[in-house]
Amino acid sequence: MSENAASGTIAFLGLGHMGGPMAVNLVKAGHQVVAYDPVPAALEAAREHGISTVDSAEEAVAGASVVLTMLPSGKHVLDAYRGVDGPGLLAIAPPNTLFLDCSTINVDEAREAAAIALEAGHRSVDAPVSGGVVGAEAATLTFMVGALPEDFETVKPILELMGRRIVHCGDHGAGQAAKVCNNMILGVSMIAVSEAFVLGEKLGLTHQALFDVASNASGQCWALTTNCPVPGPVPTSPANRDYQPGFAGALMAKDLRLAVNALESTGVDGQMGHLASRIYDAFAAEGGAGRDFSGIITDIRDKSAK
Ligand code: NAD
Repeated sequence: MSENAASGTIAFLGLGHMGGPMAVNLVKAGHQVVAYDPVPAALEAAREHGISTVDSAEEAVAGASVVLTMLPSGKHVLDAYRGVDGPGLLAIAPPNTLFLDCSTINVDEAREAAAIALEAGHRSVDAPVSGGVVGAEAATLTFMVGALPEDFETVKPILELMGRRIVHCGDHGAGQAAKVCNNMILGVSMIAVSEAFVLGEKLGLTHQALFDVASNASGQCWALTTNCPVPGPVPTSPANRDYQPGFAGALMAKDLRLAVNALESTGVDGQMGHLASRIYDAFAAEGGAGRDFSGIITDIRDKSAK
């Protein structure tokens, strides 16, 4: 392969909420995509968009120059690479295939995936995304990329077909590191903003007054000014549509568990990250899994009722 990896066949594994529309954008741009997902309905939907599908991941990978995975977890990625009941994708892929994982997984798992890919004679890139299903459909995702410089140059034109911002964060695992750090800020800040609004309510402040002050003062942050957890001040925020996601509570809980794993493996004293993870695990378990993560404010308000 490899200087022309970006123009060869892309094996696309994982046609879920994110992977489905991402694969469509690659095909729209003229790429040859061969896709696989164990869910028949996902394959059917892909075919309706002109994507070639096959009956196994092995078949998809056999003639590919890039293997793009968009899977639920690091275990799915490592199992696929290594194989569970038979040879894994690393053993089947042509030499020097570029393995491009866009799933959100543990930093340590991403580094492990890169190590075994390199050991098997391949190339490896981690490129988790932010922007959600809307960004996947509109090709406006942000990609956070961990890669060797030459591999970054290879994947950049592919990622540009699915995203708007492509950031090279460093070597293998750096994309996942950036994602986990960013989402830890987001989880913690959404809880802080929500607590402040509930406190404001108790103190007799209107939502608009608190918003007008904090959004122009040192409390300013994305959780307040874009995804404001109360209806009114930011008409496009999920709070205005009864907390339909948006970014679902289950995904925030997942990303904070990844943050906690990273805090523990590095020994960082991340008390807020740990606490946010516990709070979002409870939120997801108690009905918030499918609601926008800003719905945490309703939990805080309920628990503050006297
Ligand atoms: P999803 O569960 O909708 O899709 C995952 C797909 O992978 C499923 O269709 C599943 O059948 C398929 N799959 C599982 N094992 C497979 C295998 N061995 N080979 C091929 N396909 C396989 O998940 P999603 O929402 O699309 O998210 C995918 C990844 O992106 C996750 O890691 C998630 O954390 C991350 N992410 C999601 C969002 C979001 O808003 N949904 C945003 C950012 C990042």
